[in-house]
Parts: sequence; C-alpha cells; structure tokens
Amino acid sequence: MAASPLDALGLYISIPFCRSKCTYCNFASGVYPASDHARYVDRLVEDLAGAGAWVARMGVELPRPVDTVYLGGGTPSLLAPELLARLFAAMRAEFDFAPDAEITVECAPGQLADPTLAALVAAGVNRVSLGVQSFIDREAAVSGRLHTRSIAMDDIRRLRAAGIANLSLDLIAGLAGQTFASWEESLAALAECGVPHASVYMLEVDEDSRLGREMLAGGGRYHAGLVPNDDAIARMYSLAIEKLAGVGLGQYEISNFCRPGFASRHNLRYWHRRPYLGLGLDASSMLRAERPGKPGPVLRSTTTSDLKAFFDGPEPVETTSLSPEQQHEEAWFLGLRLNAGVDVAALEQEFGSELVAPALEAVTRLVDDGLVTSAGNTVRLTPRGQLLSNVVFQEFLGLPSQKFVP
Ligand code: SF4
Repeated sequence: MAASPLDALGLYISIPFCRSKCTYCNFASGVYPASDHARYVDRLVEDLAGAGAWVARMGVELPRPVDTVYLGGGTPSLLAPELLARLFAAMRAEFDFAPDAEITVECAPGQLADPTLAALVAAGVNRVSLGVQSFIDREAAVSGRLHTRSIAMDDIRRLRAAGIANLSLDLIAGLAGQTFASWEESLAALAECGVPHASVYMLEVDEDSRLGREMLAGGGRYHAGLVPNDDAIARMYSLAIEKLAGVGLGQYEISNFCRPGFASRHNLRYWHRRPYLGLGLDASSMLRAERPGKPGPVLRSTTTSDLKAFFDGPEPVETTSLSPEQQHEEAWFLGLRLNAGVDVAALEQEFGSELVAPALEAVTRLVDDGLVTSAGNTVRLTPRGQLLSNVVFQEFLGLPSQKFVP
C-alpha cells in the first residue's frame, strides 16, 4: 500500500533563547543565561523520549518516520555546538528521519559562529531561515537587531560555502523608519542574494511586543512614531509580491515566496493539516489519525509559554480534541492561506456536503465583497482578501453546525 502523507511526522522544536529582544518581537523568547540552555536541552531530550507514550495516552498514534524538522525560536543558533549535537542525536534516536528529510534551523545574522555552523552541517541540517528583517542598517538597529547588511550577506556566503544553499530570508514590512525607497532597497538586496525562498511579514501591533504596546498606548518609545501607517504597510506588502515575482520568487502563501520546488515542506504541513509534534516552549502539535471516508480524531496541543513552568512541569500542555466542525473550519482558514486555495470537492469528500454547505454561503458573501474568488471547485483569496485575511477567516469560524450529519 502506498504511504499516506499522514504516515509521516514533522518535528518542531522551539528554542526560546535570544541575544537581545527585538522591539517588535511577540514570540515567547528572551535573554537567558547559558546554564538555562543546557537545562532546556535536557528537558527536550526527556520530552522526545516520552513523546510516544504521551501521545498514546491521548489515544493517537505517533507516526515514526519524520520527513521535516524545524528548529525555530528564538535563535536556535545560539545553542552551543554540543547542545545542538545532543538535541539532534536525541531526535534521531527516537524517530526515523526520511533520507530526504527537510531539516531547517532559524538563525539570526551575526549569531552563527563557525563551530555552530559546523555542528548544524554535521547534524544534517539542509535548510536555514535567516531572520534579516531589513537590509537597511538603521532600520535593523532601531528594531533591536544586532546585524548589518554586510554581516547578513557574509552569513549567506558562509552558509553556502558550508553546503547549505537552501536558504530563506525573512523581511518585515512596517519597521520603524521604513520608507518605500528603503523597502525597495531591502527587496532588491534580497533579490541580489539569489535565495530560493523568502518570507515577508507585515508588522504585527499587539500587546505582546514592546513596540506594539507603545503604539497602542500612543507613546513614542522604540521609535513608535516612525512606524509606517497601515495603508503604507499594505502597499509595501503588495510591492513585495510584485518585486519578488519579478525575480522568480512566486507567492505560494500569504507570507511566503519561492522558486519552483523550494516551498517550505515543514510549513506546508501546517496549511495542509499534516501531523506535527511541537516540543519546547510555546510549541503546538497537531496529530491526526486517518480514517478512510470520514474525519479521523484530531488532537491539538500547546505547551506553556513560561520558561519556569516549562522547567517545573511534567507535561505542561493544553490539549484539545477537535470536533469535525472545528476541523472543517480549520481546513478553510488554513487552506485559504495558500495561493493554491481550497479544493471544495476534497472538503466535501472529507467532511460531507452537509457540513461544507454553510461555508459555501460564506464564500458567496466573500465573493460579493471581492475578498475571494470561486472558480470550478477552487476558492482563493483575492489580493485584497490577502490583506484582509483575518476578516475572511472570521467568516469560517462558528459556522452553523446543526446541518452536520455524522
Ligand atoms: S531574534 Fe527573533 S525571537 Fe529573538 S527577539 Fe528577535 S524577533 Fe524575537
């Protein structure tokens, strides 16, 4: 029997350590002493060894072959080489890595020492995501980044020399002090690097970052007054789609762009609802069983975002079993993130047309509003829908469920 895409697992490992805290950062990351790094890896090794038993207690089987691994953060490249080696050894001891597994590590420019790079290569890492955010030195500096354009360029050269050519660069539209001219310069620098993948995010303003809190309070610290307005950020994002397409980096997801064949296989599994196990601080898991002809049980869990609780707790996770209605809602708002869109016929086959019908009523409203297109069996976001994606996704939450026939 052919292997199902549900038979393989993605591993996400969160490394929450950073050298400094960026002003816009709303992740569960921070500056912690090196002694915490070792203790943290000890805990990850324990959790890796216990993952199978934990998942079995929840009634879901853990697929053993791993075909994608993602070390995110935080700044995983801050871990000492011996800790990285230990962590990868523990993963490989517990899971079978597919020979062509995509193994990605997030790195911050200027924070990738030679011994660390050697340890990543030795561990089989074959993809690096580099958090550049801006190639304009002043924008990087006022955002709390510790690198310059020349440092980022040098890291790209070193990674390639070490044999890691599958590189992704992150940029943020909306940093303090950014202008259209400087944004265009960052996009041109990214194009000049010739990388096969890029991620472009619009600045998020929320209570979870220092800059976001300052902006919401109307203050001026962290150069809050220099943040472009929403309309300007939206136009910068649209410019990125156009400029990146011009250099062969086609958009395949709201925030992601690649040359053909270089989409992030790990991130695709989130949008395709393929199983993944997340370990470490503030990490999510999604595990599902395959049941031909109808939705199988789906388990979602999230770990704590508090480092002390993580160290203290035996199993600091919140777990939810998703109902078919919830799975169906997720299928819409995850699938719509992709430029390929949502295949309605596939959803009807998976969930039944009774459950999908209310979503199609929402689609009709969204087509009238110019936020999605519907052609044949495929529903896609329009460019305006990509900018207002949260508005679109709201339409698929809490759909009427009384029509569902199990
Ligand atoms: S390096 Fe990344 S995770 Fe760390 S503070 Fe900056 S944005 Fe946040």
